[in-house]
Amino acid sequence: MCGIVGAVAERDVTPILLEGLKRLEYRGYDSAGVAVLRAGHLERVRLPGKVSALEEALAQHELRGHTGIAHTRWATHGVPTENNAHPHVCNDSVAVVHNGIIENHEPLRAEQRELGYRFTSETDSEVVAHQVHRHYETSGDLLRAVRETAADLEGAYGLGVIDVEEPGRLIAARSGSPLVIGIGIGEHFIASDVAALLPVTRKFIFLEEGDIADVRRGS
Ligand code: GLU
Repeated sequence: MCGIVGAVAERDVTPILLEGLKRLEYRGYDSAGVAVLRAGHLERVRLPGKVSALEEALAQHELRGHTGIAHTRWATHGVPTENNAHPHVCNDSVAVVHNGIIENHEPLRAEQRELGYRFTSETDSEVVAHQVHRHYETSGDLLRAVRETAADLEGAYGLGVIDVEEPGRLIAARSGSPLVIGIGIGEHFIASDVAALLPVTRKFIFLEEGDIADVRRGS
């Protein structure tokens, strides 16, 4: 289990996400990635290797956005490659970072394949992105889609989820893998460890097992 950082703010969140990942590097990891929402679409950069390499790639891509998630991966399912690095994306709209292991990823993948979802990684985590998308299609509400997805998952997870349809919103879920919410003024954050958020806040809410949080700029 490795690192998660997320942010919803009025300013560009990319530097906050990157600094957060650097502060989680001590845990060890094999890949890193960031996804942000920008002007109605999703932008993502991910790489096997160090956060410093990600930082260079982000500068080249001029990645900027007000809502975003980031991850350092410690591979459990699938070797460390760009395709296996998080965030995982479904249909260019839902992006997910996941810490932990989804035990029932095989039956979920089989079901999703039947429904026409295409897989681009070997990870257990990619099923989460497709499952959120699947539920979102029905309800049109990201919190509800993540809650319904959580009910479908077996295993351990900390999740951060964003969707192009809902800029300014970040859903976090905890089951068997720690997550905290960082409280700012007009901006809020999530992380798998308080250390990631110390440059931006000293106020935290520690999620408990089974908690799902709806994080927005103002609440
Ligand atoms: N099981 C996931 C993967 O292999 C997440 C690993 C992690 O917690 O970093 O991608």
